[in-house]
Amino acid sequence: MDILDKADLVIVGAGFYGATIAERAANEHGLKVVIVERRGHIGGNAYSETDPDTGIEVHRYGPHIFHTPNDAVWSYLNRFTSFTDYTHRPFSVFRGQAYSLPINLATICQFFRRQLSPDEARALIAGQAAEMAGREPDNLEEKAISLIGRPLYEAFIRGYTKKQWQTDPRDLPASIISRLPVRYTFDNRYFSDPHQGMPLSGYTAIFDRMLDHENIHVLLDCDWFELRDSIPRAVPTVYTGPIDAYFGFSEGRLGWRTCDFSRSVVATGDYQGTAMMNYADEETAHTRIVEYRHFHPERDYPVDRSVIVHEYARSAGAGDEPYYPIDTLADKALYLRYRALADREPNVHFGGRLGTYRYLDMHQAIGAALKEWERLRTSEFAHGRK
Ligand code: FAD
Repeated sequence: MDILDKADLVIVGAGFYGATIAERAANEHGLKVVIVERRGHIGGNAYSETDPDTGIEVHRYGPHIFHTPNDAVWSYLNRFTSFTDYTHRPFSVFRGQAYSLPINLATICQFFRRQLSPDEARALIAGQAAEMAGREPDNLEEKAISLIGRPLYEAFIRGYTKKQWQTDPRDLPASIISRLPVRYTFDNRYFSDPHQGMPLSGYTAIFDRMLDHENIHVLLDCDWFELRDSIPRAVPTVYTGPIDAYFGFSEGRLGWRTCDFSRSVVATGDYQGTAMMNYADEETAHTRIVEYRHFHPERDYPVDRSVIVHEYARSAGAGDEPYYPIDTLADKALYLRYRALADREPNVHFGGRLGTYRYLDMHQAIGAALKEWERLRTSEFAHGRK
């Protein structure tokens, strides 16, 4: 393919990691970049689209809320979009009651049906967590109880965790959680980052602008594995696909969890009064319901219908989208073996959440790409075959 013969850099994947490197390479270095994307659209998992029945913007691969403590990432992304002042305040349903999340003073007061001061709430939770005092937690359940006590654990963590992992928390390692956020104030913001919001014109518009450069060519519906033999070996590659797939799963498959999304249109202008409602009871099959209109209250959406998405979690099989790394000890060891192979791979840079087998928030994927670009642009790699 002519376009590949002329490329200075090939990028596999048009998510935030790949798009950031492409944008920098073209704008800062004038490199000719080809992005190869398996899906029929840019944006990776942050892709958003307009629901045809309601005109409401939906995130196809699950709800994405932008937040970051990183000033450099914030100012970089603001070149391509402005943000609304959306502040994420989710809720959790337990036994028919809706509670504010993350667990905060309002949740605690409502749950224990008392008005408590911050000190009283702290003392109450510490007293409940004391049942684990002097004992090393053996599993996730014990670890959670040692952090927030049994009543809150049984209400907000047990059922939800069981659904997410399809495993009883007593059979999950304690190492999965290091902390459980509890706020002893009435601050119910989910993220405490100084920068947060929703992109004014949606996520996909960010990618349209990032990749709008005469030197950037995007090949959609194109699996890099089917193309790799036709790419000249001298062309450097940034690979943001799954690292185990790159090596043909030679060492085994890394474990991922996936989600199933079930979208429906409801005949009301407001189904649940908020963007995200979690379901903590294990009897309810879905983990959460997302009502997308609430991410953009500033928009003129229809008043007689709304779009909602039920979300279900499960382990990923071979053909599923990989969403969250399971990251057991066996996975960690396997990843290190792939990492060692990757380090020996000439002219290929592995990045992004799939290429490094890590859960990355969007700002972390962008931050990692900006940092890596700083390193690459001064290396021979950035000069490609120039
Ligand atoms: P991706 O976006 O996954 O992009 C990788 C791309 O590579 C994909 O488009 C894929 O199709 C392509 N690809 C893979 N293999 C090949 C191949 N062989 N050939 C060609 N193309 C290939 N982050 C937040 O900051 N806030 C949130 O609220 C948030 N919510 C999330 C909710 C869910 C359900 C999930 C799963 C993630 C969420 N994230 C959130 C994380 C966010 O999605 C990631 O930070 C972001 O997607 C990382 O970008 P990336 O470029 O590394 O990977």
